[in-house]
Amino acid sequence: MSALDVWRTLPAKQQPSWPDPVELQAAYDQLAALPPLVTAPEVRSLTDRLAMVARGEAFLLQGGDCAETFAANTANKIRDKVKTLLQMAVVLTYGASTPVVKVARIAGQYAKPRSADIEASTGLPSYRGDAVNDIAATAAARRPDPMRMVASYHQSAVALNLVRAFATGGFADLSKVHEWNKAFVRDSAAGRRYEAMATDIERAMAFMAACGIDLDRTAALTGVELFTSHEGLLLEYERALTRVEDATGNPYDLSAHMIWIGERTRDLDGAHVDLLSRVGNPIGCKIGPKASPDEVLELAERLNPQHIPGRLTLISRMGVGRVRDALPPIIEKVNAAGPPVVWSCDPMHGNTRDVAGVKTRHFDDVLDEVSGFFEVHKALGTHPGGLHIELTGENVTECLGGAELIGEEDLGGRYETACDPRLNTGQALELAFLVAEMLQH
Ligand code: PEP
Ligand code: MN
Repeated sequence: MSALDVWRTLPAKQQPSWPDPVELQAAYDQLAALPPLVTAPEVRSLTDRLAMVARGEAFLLQGGDCAETFAANTANKIRDKVKTLLQMAVVLTYGASTPVVKVARIAGQYAKPRSADIEASTGLPSYRGDAVNDIAATAAARRPDPMRMVASYHQSAVALNLVRAFATGGFADLSKVHEWNKAFVRDSAAGRRYEAMATDIERAMAFMAACGIDLDRTAALTGVELFTSHEGLLLEYERALTRVEDATGNPYDLSAHMIWIGERTRDLDGAHVDLLSRVGNPIGCKIGPKASPDEVLELAERLNPQHIPGRLTLISRMGVGRVRDALPPIIEKVNAAGPPVVWSCDPMHGNTRDVAGVKTRHFDDVLDEVSGFFEVHKALGTHPGGLHIELTGENVTECLGGAELIGEEDLGGRYETACDPRLNTGQALELAFLVAEMLQH
């Protein structure tokens, strides 16, 4: 057995109950024969960028939908998500004079862990993401269908094609900085602040041009490096997209640049940690409040035994009530032992609450968890390396608060997520300004 298949002998949480092994094998064979979505050199360049973050020389911005869906995989929605990420990135870069490594939750975020296999309200199998079944509440729709993994590969490929075109084809040119601002946020406080900053940037660019710098030939200004990521949840999918590079003999999971392991599947002796410990990608691992410092250190050693800087990003998602007490002993333990780590903060998943049956999060909790994360790192002298958030490029009303003061009564307005509540563009931009301020101090 190949070492890449050892996971098959280990307990694997959160896998769909695929009804038919023959169907599953057919889907696997198709995926294994398809071209990779990204390449090994690209994956290595993300490791290099993340090594800068680990050394405190850059900041990681990771964001996108909780769950992408096939129906929402449209040109406009992809464009708007990319715009929002670019806006946040430029706010952080300009505001904190820090290079920002941009990683989207896009082109592959189609599988979700669920708390129950059967949904209590309907008695049907839970919706596990478009890569597994359909969200419609019928028995036929909810049947796990392995061919949906093949469909999500193709959906990822078309999204990635557009993302790559946006990143380098003129759309992300810094001279377009004003155009990334959406009409519906322009009149908000964050939108106005963004307009002012964009005008400053334009002035700085005009100055550089007047000094004789050829802006049109400066790749760092005419395009961006935008990497892709998703949770490595469906092991058959991730394994089928894992390819051994001819030149080096090393395996890479070429379904995305960065793959993360979720809070529910990070068991030390589980299948997810085993498979992802064997691929050469930068790996993320979510860390919730129940993780002990010893367990996190063991995870760090298992996922990055060679202590390669940029290889491992630990994404804490403690919740606002726990970040200040649960995170410090973990950082201290890992740091004392020496594996280099990017410390990133997911201020979303520890702060989900239920308001009359609707899943939401409050902007104040999100912001306060990020503040706590920065405070903890400041006290320990470590680098608060990144932010991991769920966002859209639209004007949804899924998270409470923010400058628009979205209230409980507004949640019914535009609540469109297929899974967890996302920050809307205005909230995301507001957060970026506040994080840029935290980074300056
Ligand atoms: C997610 O990122 O959507 C997610 C499910 O997070 P976690 O594993 O931290 O709960
Ligand atoms: Mn989520």
